[in-house]
Amino acid sequence: MPRSARPSARDLLLWYDRHRRILPWRAQAGETADPYHVWLSEIMLQQTTVAAVMPYFRRFLALFPTVQALADAPEERVMQAWAGLGYYARARNLHRCARAVSALGGFPRTIEALRALPGIGAYTAPAIAAIAFGVPAVPVDGNVERVTARLFAIDTPLPAARPALARAAATLGQDQEARARPSDFAQALFDLGATLCTPKRPACALCPWQAPCLARKAGTADLLPVKAAKPVRPERHGAVFRLTDREGRILLQRRPPSGLLGGMTELPGTAWRDTPWSRDEALAHSQALFPLPADWTPVGSVRHVFTHFGLTLQVWSARCDIVPAPVLQGRMLRPADALAGEALPSLMRKALDLAPGAEAAIGRGAKRTAATTPISGTLSSVATGRLKRGDERCG
Ligand code: SF4
Repeated sequence: MPRSARPSARDLLLWYDRHRRILPWRAQAGETADPYHVWLSEIMLQQTTVAAVMPYFRRFLALFPTVQALADAPEERVMQAWAGLGYYARARNLHRCARAVSALGGFPRTIEALRALPGIGAYTAPAIAAIAFGVPAVPVDGNVERVTARLFAIDTPLPAARPALARAAATLGQDQEARARPSDFAQALFDLGATLCTPKRPACALCPWQAPCLARKAGTADLLPVKAAKPVRPERHGAVFRLTDREGRILLQRRPPSGLLGGMTELPGTAWRDTPWSRDEALAHSQALFPLPADWTPVGSVRHVFTHFGLTLQVWSARCDIVPAPVLQGRMLRPADALAGEALPSLMRKALDLAPGAEAAIGRGAKRTAATTPISGTLSSVATGRLKRGDERCG
């Protein structure tokens, strides 16, 4: 078979040896990968970009330098360190996994044993096994799916194409030179997808596999992989209430330990439902939550996109001198300048960031600002001018 007829591991590895990315969790050429670093980065990279993960990875290593240190840490501390990275079930599983690894005395070295650990799935197990332990396996992430779809011109729409893509990707790893360097080969595939075979405008002229690539030959690289049309994401609506006492402390509560944003800190609020909350409904709910005289004012709204729905939260603000004991029960008061240490998801940080000057003014007993003008008319008419929208990926 002519050399150009099939993708050669040798060509890819030669390219990788010259162009590999420098990443904080990646071993240098000739070094042995640290399984803790590999595992931590792979969990963080699920649904998240390399750029977003880097500061979190470094922070985790500073706080928890070893898997044992992570296992020994209280869950609340882990959640605080993870706050902002989204998909919080990953953080809980990360902690459970660290404890399981600690009990085992170290990371297991096979795909099957890794797969049995909390939070390690069908992609992550071969990724850790290949990168950290040199097991000949081709982990198929989004980058590898894209490269494979183009190399073999597989035009079945995703997700139905996944089994065919996995089979095709596995053939790439059967090459003798790929089996001799499984860790580098897996990472070379990731790098090819991330730097050259990008979703838009792939740099085929620089690609070590341009000769055997069927999509390049057919001029269809930009069109692959084909993705099935996504169903319309439903929208939900809620309201949250930011109650501040005379010392400028904000009333917060912890979400239930399981479920969406489980164990994270939040502003008290309504349920999330399919229709917006009217002014009267929101105010009635605030009275039920906080049976005290308070001048609730809408300060705007924030939007967040979860995997399966979009959420718009109205944000209401009020002050009181002292938070009565019945209202405080099961909740906590936190100074505004201590919120950085709280396990607040991005959604709640955005809600707390709305009109930040208003809380400072309230804390100093200053005059009411424009952002805290009492509500009049309908909620939507008052809040429209201050709506703050920003789609953000989260889970
Ligand atoms: Fe991707 Fe182009 Fe390389 Fe094919 S030739 S694998 S489309 S970068």
